[in-house]
Amino acid sequence: MTTTTDLPAIQYTVWPADLHGHRYQVKLHIANPDPEGQVLQMPAWIPGSYLIRDFSKHIESIEAHSVQTKKKLPLERINNDQWCLPKVSGAIEVLTTIYAYDPSVRAAFLDTERAFFNASSLCLEVKGQSDLPCSLAIAPPKTEFAAHWSIQTTLRSVKTDTQGFGFYLAQNYADLLDHPVAMGEFQLIDWVSNGTPHSMAIQGCIHPIDAKRLVQDLQAICNCTINLFEPKTKQAPFARYLFLVNAVLNGYGGLEHRNSTALLCRRDQIPQQDVPLDETSYREFLGLCSHEYFHAWLVKRIQAKVFQPYDLSQRNHTRLLWLFEGFTSYYDDLQLFRSKRIDLNLYLGLVANNWNAILRGPGRNKQSLADSSFDAWTKYYQADENTPNAVVSYYGKGALLALGLDLQIRAFSKNQKSLDDLMRLIWKKHGVTLEGIAENGLDELIIEAIGTEFSKTWSEMKSRYIFGTEDIPIQKWIASKLVSVRPKTTSKLEKIKLQLGMRHTDVNGWLKVTHVLDGGAAQLAGLAPGDILASINGQRITGARLDKVLGGLAEGENIHFCFYRDDLEHERIASLSPHQAPTQYELSANVVNT
Ligand SMILES: [Zn+2]
Repeated sequence: MTTTTDLPAIQYTVWPADLHGHRYQVKLHIANPDPEGQVLQMPAWIPGSYLIRDFSKHIESIEAHSVQTKKKLPLERINNDQWCLPKVSGAIEVLTTIYAYDPSVRAAFLDTERAFFNASSLCLEVKGQSDLPCSLAIAPPKTEFAAHWSIQTTLRSVKTDTQGFGFYLAQNYADLLDHPVAMGEFQLIDWVSNGTPHSMAIQGCIHPIDAKRLVQDLQAICNCTINLFEPKTKQAPFARYLFLVNAVLNGYGGLEHRNSTALLCRRDQIPQQDVPLDETSYREFLGLCSHEYFHAWLVKRIQAKVFQPYDLSQRNHTRLLWLFEGFTSYYDDLQLFRSKRIDLNLYLGLVANNWNAILRGPGRNKQSLADSSFDAWTKYYQADENTPNAVVSYYGKGALLALGLDLQIRAFSKNQKSLDDLMRLIWKKHGVTLEGIAENGLDELIIEAIGTEFSKTWSEMKSRYIFGTEDIPIQKWIASKLVSVRPKTTSKLEKIKLQLGMRHTDVNGWLKVTHVLDGGAAQLAGLAPGDILASINGQRITGARLDKVLGGLAEGENIHFCFYRDDLEHERIASLSPHQAPTQYELSANVVNT
């Protein structure tokens, strides 16, 4: 039996109290508050998602009392995220009511169907005591809706019932935040990858999932990634791993944790019995799983030094997100190919898609990868109508850089070495040891892994493609006996769209311009984000009819736009010319005669 005296000095109790109003009640017990006045803090952001989210905004009520005297204690506000308790002796309890209706993987959610939370949305940090162990008790909701609910989390369970309600233990506050919790009804699959138990808990699918197919694919991907980092020991760095999946009508995303991940996907991306499966959508889902799983090594263990520890009260800056996110993006698809989930041509198609997307973004000429990382908080994560013109994705270009570096290492070492060798060295030096990697820490690792003679190539790559804004010349580096590269053959319609440089969305049957790219015909003609297109060359235009009308244009024909801006009618004429279209490439596997 566990009594409260067995529990650590900091105890959180989370109760999904109001399923209809989407509110948790959270009790925080502090056995030894700071005698000078305990400060409490709600995180402003969650690691892995670089945007200030101000989780404190969902606190509806907060009050504190002394455990001994039961007397209410005043809470002084320091700022939006911080409270200060008076000087007291003896234990204190703080009660909060927190609204939770964010369906993403980054916050907290509660309704009659399911509950999900990251502790960063519910649990106040006890400042000065963050390194101490803490317990998390999860109480079952008292309603018939939730009678069959159970809990899925990789937090260490101490004393729980068969459904998982009860006491869990975290090594410290950061550990608590790194274990998301899901409640509700799940479809579960389990498998073992290289001796380590893995599972996936899926919510939101009505039909029975195709467990056999999922296990086969996920097991292959997980085995492959464990073997990449630890080819000798084949040991995963965790005792178990859990994929938490919430399948919805529309949604996509994932957040990495040290031995689990929270994923959001569409229902039709999951193989289910008696439901036709779109292989491309499923492949995308496997790519998401592969990506977040890879993060268990890169970013959860190999970390930027500036993230140790995370300062959750403000933005934390690193110029290395191209490494953590870009290299992970390079490997997520590569691991699908290596684990034989996709063939070479499909893999090359994915590489070309990413490469072409980067080439279509004029922002790549203005922002470097290093700056894109540093400014993720205010630019990449706060995308607006100008983002494609001003920002380069550290995911996309970072993945291209990883490919470029891999190709350069292979060429330099005459195929004796590859990026894998560098990744294994980074793992050994910074992952196994958990010693953070400095902003310029990669320099010496590259020399150690590949050799001093490679340092000239690396410093050139750094200045041109990481700190500079040059395009990475993949077309020069990738051509080989195995792979051909050539300018992409585009249809007349694709060419017109590339020259126009305009992105749009459908709004109530009208076509609304969302982005107008620098250098494109749409911008030259004077179209702007927000314009509502009415007709092209006299023909009424809608999202569904755009391709037909554009595809029907004669070679060299001007495009006469009629549109509304601020509800007033305007007209503009766009002239297309070949130089407006960014270069696009296609890659294909050569047939090798053996
Ligand atoms: Zn990622």
